Amino acid sequence: MSMTFQPLFGHAHKRPFLIAGPCSAETEAQVLQTARELALQGIDLFRAGIWKPRTRPGEFEGIGTPGLAWLRRVKEEVGLRTTTEVANTQHVFEALKYGIDVLWIGARTTVNPFSVQEVADALRGVDIPVLIKNPVNPDLKLWMGAIERIYKAGIRRIAVIHRGFSHHGETRYRNVPRWQIAIDLKRHFPDLPIFCDNSHICGRRDILREVAQQALDLNYDGLMTEVHPSPDQAWSDAAQQITPLQYGEMKAMLQFRRSGSEDPNFAQHIDHLRHQIDEIDEEILQLLSHRMNLAQGIGEYKRRNNIAIVQPTRWSEIVDKATAEGRKKGLSDEFVETILRAIHQESIRRQSLVLHEETQQAS
Ligand code: PEP
Ligand code: MN
Repeated sequence: MSMTFQPLFGHAHKRPFLIAGPCSAETEAQVLQTARELALQGIDLFRAGIWKPRTRPGEFEGIGTPGLAWLRRVKEEVGLRTTTEVANTQHVFEALKYGIDVLWIGARTTVNPFSVQEVADALRGVDIPVLIKNPVNPDLKLWMGAIERIYKAGIRRIAVIHRGFSHHGETRYRNVPRWQIAIDLKRHFPDLPIFCDNSHICGRRDILREVAQQALDLNYDGLMTEVHPSPDQAWSDAAQQITPLQYGEMKAMLQFRRSGSEDPNFAQHIDHLRHQIDEIDEEILQLLSHRMNLAQGIGEYKRRNNIAIVQPTRWSEIVDKATAEGRKKGLSDEFVETILRAIHQESIRRQSLVLHEETQQAS
């Protein structure tokens, strides 16, 4: 389905678009203090969770509807637009009643098409910007599905938030970024703004700036960051929140990139480099096709001699040799292995087809 999105506010997207505020609204004083201090740092949208989807019951599940009145005060007294998370019909109606400017759909909601559809149905006929976080699991289609459901409800002011994906095992992140998934999403929806929620990717303070910078280097349109007046005392996500001052410091150190340049020399130079890259990509494809044909030939030969397709010793020899060679050329082991694995899988598939043909002929 072809989809065209509209800017969240006004005629053009403001870049970078900065969203900040506490993980949760806790008290009226905390919300207003954070908003006042963040307004001084220059942000575009104030966030605060009113209903919190917690992993275990008994944790702080959000202050609920009374907090919406505090967000209304932020808007009236501090002059910042506000956003909060909605996960069901009641959340949507309450948030609209209190004049929340932007709604966001959380990662635990995006995973569930029933919930996304419920929110979409509640939004039918309403003109409000909606931000859609990636699902908790690394599933591009679920993310796209949520965008499509909200779009079909008539919402045109949509943006997405990349907050990382849950991961089994040790990592330095709370939610691993897997940048490629977000890049793939942009390939499907080129004019959809994308913001990086560096707080939920990191889960800790010390690498917030690094991840924000990576996102900006990848041409992201903005950031969503959790900010609290006394982060260590926060009722949720204490380890990843920073003070408004620390937020200002982070912002000052970030390099905001332009997405393009009017300078003709710049365009010419980039064109030249891109042209070379296109040529190399074409050569790579040519070589891959050649390699697959050879593998297929080997498959046929193995078939005639009745030899099994996968020869584990051969595979480890290839990997060892290539990673050693790659290292000399400045390529990481991980990169070389990923590519080889994909090539190897395709070779096996081709060779299995050869055997399969034989079985079919025999039967
Ligand atoms: C949040 O923004 O506080 C939140 C709950 O985020 P997520 O849905 O990304 O986990
Ligand atoms: Mn949070």
